[in-house]
Amino acid sequence: NANKLAQSERETAWREMAKQVAHEIKNPLTPLRLGIQMLDRSWKDKDVKFDDKFNKFSKSFLEQIDSLSRIASEFSNFAKMPELKLEKLAVLSVLNKAVEVYSQMAHIKITCDESSLKDCMVLVDRDQLLRCFNNLLKNAIEAMPEGKAGLITINGIKEQHNIKIAVSDNGNGIPLNSRASIFVPNFTTKSSGTGLGLAFVKQAVENVKGNIYFTTEINVGTTFYITLPLVS
Ligand code: ADP
Ligand code: MG
Repeated sequence: NANKLAQSERETAWREMAKQVAHEIKNPLTPLRLGIQMLDRSWKDKDVKFDDKFNKFSKSFLEQIDSLSRIASEFSNFAKMPELKLEKLAVLSVLNKAVEVYSQMAHIKITCDESSLKDCMVLVDRDQLLRCFNNLLKNAIEAMPEGKAGLITINGIKEQHNIKIAVSDNGNGIPLNSRASIFVPNFTTKSSGTGLGLAFVKQAVENVKGNIYFTTEINVGTTFYITLPLVS
């Protein structure tokens, strides 16, 4: 049945994800190992260039290590997902937390139409919902071309049983050939992206019987819509 199918799809996605994460972890390990080996030899041989070599390599080691910890923390966040702690919450209280963090950034203006979201109560996991909004805002900011003043607009659209939250940006838009892949774990177009953000958002939203989709136009911007069931 449909449930079993969804389950096996999730398992396939998980296996695929685990494979890719393992691959991503192995990538920085090779240069780390070779570099340390080289320094070790240079040190033992009392190489006069040791200091220079150390200087050159230590920066790249730190970068590799940072990239490893980024992968690890995003993966463990992703893996944590099944334990849901559902509470009845005002959407706006969670949304405002995310907005507060990202509106500190220069060049970005975030406006939230609070009146359209007022009194909207949903049954959600607070941390997961916050991470959803954080991910959408972070992506919106990252979609801003250099030098352009970023505008992010958040609106609520009330439906009979749902609240639809629209997060719009005036960024680059999503190229046609990426559109089908953005929710796939590990899909990224960024040099230091993990591709786990939207995969997380989709799963978290679907966990509480919500929905996510987007509209986008190149060089104009993108809007992500999250629909959540309302509770009274
Ligand atoms: P990451 O941000 O690590 O790349 P995500 O899962 O958050 O991973 O996003 C996947 C991809 O979707 C991004 O690499 C980007 O190409 C695209 N994307 C997501 N949000 C936006 C947006 N607001 N505007 C343009 N492209 C986006
Ligand atoms: Mg992201």
